[in-house]
Amino acid sequence: MSFWKKWTAARPGEDQVFKDVENYSAKNYKPLPVVLSKGKGAYVWDTEGKKYLDALSAYSALNHGHRHPKILAAMNDQASRLTLSSRAFHNDQMGVFLKKLCQVAGMEMALPMNTGAEAVETAIKMARKWGYLKKKVVQDRAEIIVCENNFHGRTTTIVSFSTENQYRAGFGPFTPGFRVIPYGDLQALKAAIHENTVAFLYEPIQGEGGVIVPPQGFLTEAAKICRKNGVLLMADEIQTGLGRTGRTFCYQHDDDAKPDVLILGKALGGGVYPVSAALASKEVMGVFNPGDHGSTFGGNPMAAAIGLAALNALEDEKMVENSAEMGAYLIEKIREIQAPHAIQEVRGKGLMIGIEFKKEYGPARAVCEKLAIRGILCKDTHDQTMRITPPLIIGIEECDLIVEQIAAVLAG
Ligand SMILES: *Cc1c(COP(=O)(O)O)cnc(C)c1O
Repeated sequence: MSFWKKWTAARPGEDQVFKDVENYSAKNYKPLPVVLSKGKGAYVWDTEGKKYLDALSAYSALNHGHRHPKILAAMNDQASRLTLSSRAFHNDQMGVFLKKLCQVAGMEMALPMNTGAEAVETAIKMARKWGYLKKKVVQDRAEIIVCENNFHGRTTTIVSFSTENQYRAGFGPFTPGFRVIPYGDLQALKAAIHENTVAFLYEPIQGEGGVIVPPQGFLTEAAKICRKNGVLLMADEIQTGLGRTGRTFCYQHDDDAKPDVLILGKALGGGVYPVSAALASKEVMGVFNPGDHGSTFGGNPMAAAIGLAALNALEDEKMVENSAEMGAYLIEKIREIQAPHAIQEVRGKGLMIGIEFKKEYGPARAVCEKLAIRGILCKDTHDQTMRITPPLIIGIEECDLIVEQIAAVLAG
């Protein structure tokens, strides 16, 4: 019997969960057979009381860790007063939140949404309208340059420019107006720009794509090229943002790489609520008029109170600095693991770390399963790569635990 068969058989309480999910849930995910019922800080517990270190952090939505006390307090406080207003009326939380968000991001204006994909859609609509109004692009001819191996979400427009076959297969017809270049290729970027190009949309590190770090200098040069050609530089920092890579925003690792449009999500919701936003200058954001765009829940008072608490906690508790410090330590220790038969490459910045395994060693999923048994939860991406992205609040003890368990799995 495989370990997981034994594991699930020995967990009668979880058995019903598996049956319900099997019967009633769409099969759009393939989770590890772990049923979580409690979380605190960097740790989670399953229904049998087994404790795990969360080394995935819900794909970086849990940068603050689970149930951060100040974020929970802000949520409970807001829930006791007003939860939803819709944008038909003002609420007393949204303005305060967006002011703080713009200050943190060094941007002039923000448009609040809920999920990451919605914030990306917002940026796409904004760039197109900016192109028609300000750049005088021929009507319906606006083009946005994107990168191979990108991940920007799952809506029909966004999968239209995915290069991942599975994300697209069966979901056409697709939205036109996107041009794909190889990630990190400056010559291709230059060559792709023409008079109808309105924006270049990119991830400073490709997360879902396998923690791919672009060549040194790429972002600085790409920014230069975009500025010179009147093309908006749009950074999708939904995963890399808010401290994940050891800087508040990943673009800050490079000189003069500040984007015109910054897209945030995931950790902006403090691990408790979906909060996302697109940020830009007054000139660019100014293309939106009442009725152009919106969301029933976007900017709601719960989201705003939670988002504000998340930004404050990040600053007050120096999570960005901790991410840089722990990230440097963790990546060094992982690189010291003696497993040349298994490890192809270790890469990343801050606490966004990818370990690529050799093809002959086997898929990353098998390593993730063995780590789960040993009390470390993380996730494979693109077959051979395992992503290590723990909450930004971890200490040396958690780093050592991760390294020790990975080493044990690779040795066994
Ligand atoms: C997760 C992610 C998205 C999509 O966010 P959702 O909240 O799942 O819609 C978009 N871009 C990047 C880089 C992401 O990591």
